[in-house]
Amino acid sequence: MTFDLSRQRVADASAHVAGGVNSAFRVGIRPHPLVFAAADGAILTDVDGNRLVDYFLGMGPMLLGHRPPAVVAAARAQLDRSILVAGQTELEYAAAEVLTRLVPSAELVRFAVSGSEAVQAALRVARAATSRATVVKFEGHYHGWFDNVLWSVSPAVEEAGPADAPVPVPGSLGQRPAADVAVLPWNDAALLRRRLARGDVAAVIMEPVMFNNGGVLPLPGYLEAVREACDRTGTVLVFDEVITGFRVGPGGAQAAFGVTPDLTVLGKALANGFPVAALVGRRSYMDLVAGPVLHGGTYNTQSVAMAATLATLTEIASGRPYEAIEPAGTRLMEGLRKEFADAGVEARVVGYPAVFQVGFGAVRPRDYREAQRADRAAYADFAAALLDRGVRVLPRGTWFVSTAHGDHVDATLTAVHDTLRSAA
Ligand code: PMP
Repeated sequence: MTFDLSRQRVADASAHVAGGVNSAFRVGIRPHPLVFAAADGAILTDVDGNRLVDYFLGMGPMLLGHRPPAVVAAARAQLDRSILVAGQTELEYAAAEVLTRLVPSAELVRFAVSGSEAVQAALRVARAATSRATVVKFEGHYHGWFDNVLWSVSPAVEEAGPADAPVPVPGSLGQRPAADVAVLPWNDAALLRRRLARGDVAAVIMEPVMFNNGGVLPLPGYLEAVREACDRTGTVLVFDEVITGFRVGPGGAQAAFGVTPDLTVLGKALANGFPVAALVGRRSYMDLVAGPVLHGGTYNTQSVAMAATLATLTEIASGRPYEAIEPAGTRLMEGLRKEFADAGVEARVVGYPAVFQVGFGAVRPRDYREAQRADRAAYADFAAALLDRGVRVLPRGTWFVSTAHGDHVDATLTAVHDTLRSAA
């Protein structure tokens, strides 16, 4: 496959668009950033006319695939009624009601536009509720691109200090100095207990499964231990389920693991590609957003996005998406394991049918630093080679699967087979 037109368009457009792309995470994609003409089901079509089986899925949101009929119809119908009203619609009330049924921690809901800003609302609520300032986050976890949380997301281990006392490493030039943030290794309950015992932590925020870096599950009992330590010290527990929400299952990781946080941040698959996120949580905390804690946003509950959200959540609540993804994703995970084994490539495939992680090497990581020992360069080479055979996967190893992928699993496994054979 060639991607020459994409390369040309990005180069030309760099005259008008910084770097030719509109998100930092679209830079450095091999062979170069792509320009797309269309997307439907599991297939992306780029400007070179290549048809690619898409496991990026918009970085996760497209649980129902690209342009699912129910969501498209709802959004289209709403365009004839309203776009933005700076007020309420029945759509957001109906969508919130579904959320409170699906997500265990969701007694009350506030919608936002992006995961990054919903995280900010969560931290503001936690600080208001506790009159404390410090937020504990974990090495390797991503909670959006804002100054106060873009710490130690993917630091060079040499710069990150001792394993049991990490130094916060900024993710960007121009970021404010670290203030009110403490970075800890994940999956170590004893270290967290010790830190919380100081009594100055407002919130502990985490991805309940670390999918932004290495695909690491919580150790048995870890989430329960965190819950218990937060309860004992009056610390607000925030699960950032922007990825895990609706991909681990309809109730997120919190339902799957049976551990309920105080606050939850949702996004991505919540609206199948429309810009919608949410802060949900216990009534006692969420009541603060109804009062003294300010959370605003011109575009919150934009009508078309809310119509799409309601349509998406209605599908999710029906259980049908999981019935479709479960067999496809499972077959894909098992097929990948077999292809890697047959090719003599040591690999690890962990996660769920709708989101899983592939890593090369013998590493079975429990945290970020261990995950860094996987052969990430070899995996990135594999991902780049797979693109040449029409399968687009994230170079970091995450695979997102949609309801539309069932018919593409065989072709994907054939492409994987051929890629591994030609590399051998
Ligand atoms: N939290 C997590 C766990 C995420 O994966 C992301 C996005 N990748 C965010 C927060 C930020 O969400 P957004 O990009 O919508 O601001």
